[in-house]
Amino acid sequence: MSPGTLETQKKDWTRIAFFVLTPLIGTVGTAAHAWRFGFRWWEPALFLALYALVGVSVTAGYHRLFAHRSYECHPAVQAFYLFFGAMALQNSILAWGSDHRIHHRYVDRDWDPYNIQRGGLWAHILWIFYKGPADRTFDDVPDLKRNRLVQWQHRHASLIGIVGGLGLPTLIGWAMGSALGGLLWGGFLRIVVVHHTTFFVNSIAHLYGSRPYTEANSARDNAWVALLTNGEGYHNFHHRFPADFRNGIRWYQWDPSKWWIRGLRVLGLARGLRSTPALVIERSRLETARARAESRAGAGAAHPIEAVRHHLDAAHHALERAAVLWAEAREKGRRSWREYREQLALARRKRAEALRMLGSMPEGV
Ligand SMILES: [Zn+2]
Ligand SMILES: [Zn+2]
Repeated sequence: MSPGTLETQKKDWTRIAFFVLTPLIGTVGTAAHAWRFGFRWWEPALFLALYALVGVSVTAGYHRLFAHRSYECHPAVQAFYLFFGAMALQNSILAWGSDHRIHHRYVDRDWDPYNIQRGGLWAHILWIFYKGPADRTFDDVPDLKRNRLVQWQHRHASLIGIVGGLGLPTLIGWAMGSALGGLLWGGFLRIVVVHHTTFFVNSIAHLYGSRPYTEANSARDNAWVALLTNGEGYHNFHHRFPADFRNGIRWYQWDPSKWWIRGLRVLGLARGLRSTPALVIERSRLETARARAESRAGAGAAHPIEAVRHHLDAAHHALERAAVLWAEAREKGRRSWREYREQLALARRKRAEALRMLGSMPEGV
């Protein structure tokens, strides 16, 4: 997508109508239907089931598989993603993947399609209201262009999205006794919720949250967004290590997409899962902590910053030692692994302690 300006970009009125009407029907329509007819157990169940299936097709499929190639999977799983992903009505894999790779490459700059510097509302939804270039070739995503399933989905994405996204829940609703109930709960309400939770990653997760892995861009780790988006809210990690199949790397971080991908591997349907070594991740956290400390030092906090630096140096030494032990462990085995883990844990503790001290330092000291 060309960066353009609001003056030079043409509005896409079909999309604008779609993105204005679907929330109205999805929320007001569903509420009115529930008020008039009550609701049956299967209606919220249908909503949740399709929310989960379509959601994971966007996060584990569109995003982590097609846009980032963070793992490989069986064509049957790809077919699942391209069908349920199209039901999200967020464009084809080809267009979505291209936009998203441009977002990563030019994050926070003019060429970033959902550049947060143009405002939260722009990054959330306004960017969709404008037409991209008509002669888009998708030469920037040659791997996706070569994929026949992706090409086929690109040609029929709107049709699959409407027939599957609205027709399928209507059919299920009809079988359960209310076609309209199925259409509203599993169709419109689900589309709107999947839309806006996905968009939260581009808006909220670029505005609010922490930046433990890099401060070079606006992406943030936001656990609330992760809760709504199958784990995509750990966006600071993701921008630092976009090829990693995980976004929430700690066991307690809510990232169902990561568990889904691991589940596929157990079933023999996915392989080649790419993950960043713990040492590399910790090094980025330490560098970010060091940069934060030095920016405070520059502000004239000479005395207390020395104690912070002391902890950061200790973390650095522990990490260097861990790197040596890691190399040894690969050759020798068990005992070194234990020592490696101890040194890595020590590095984390020292880095965390330094950040705690930095956080408790009064401003301008
Ligand atoms: Zn982003
Ligand atoms: Zn991404």
